[in-house]
Amino acid sequence: MCIVCKNRFEKRLLNRFSMDANKLCVNVKLGRGIYLCQTCALKEEKILYKAFSKMCKKLKIIPQNLKELF
Ligand SMILES: [Zn+2]
Repeated sequence: MCIVCKNRFEKRLLNRFSMDANKLCVNVKLGRGIYLCQTCALKEEKILYKAFSKMCKKLKIIPQNLKELF
């Protein structure tokens, strides 16, 4: 499920993130997966930032340039 629009997609269509300690990782298969669809990946960074902060309350470091991760 995409964390921004909450729609369900096939996993291969989603960007997968995960949390490693307090860091956000991309394409790493550990921890709890956080998914973002391709449409939402194009949304404004502040929208993404908000969704990520909500999902990862323990996450202290959210990259400033989230989009560079995709
Ligand atoms: Zn989405």
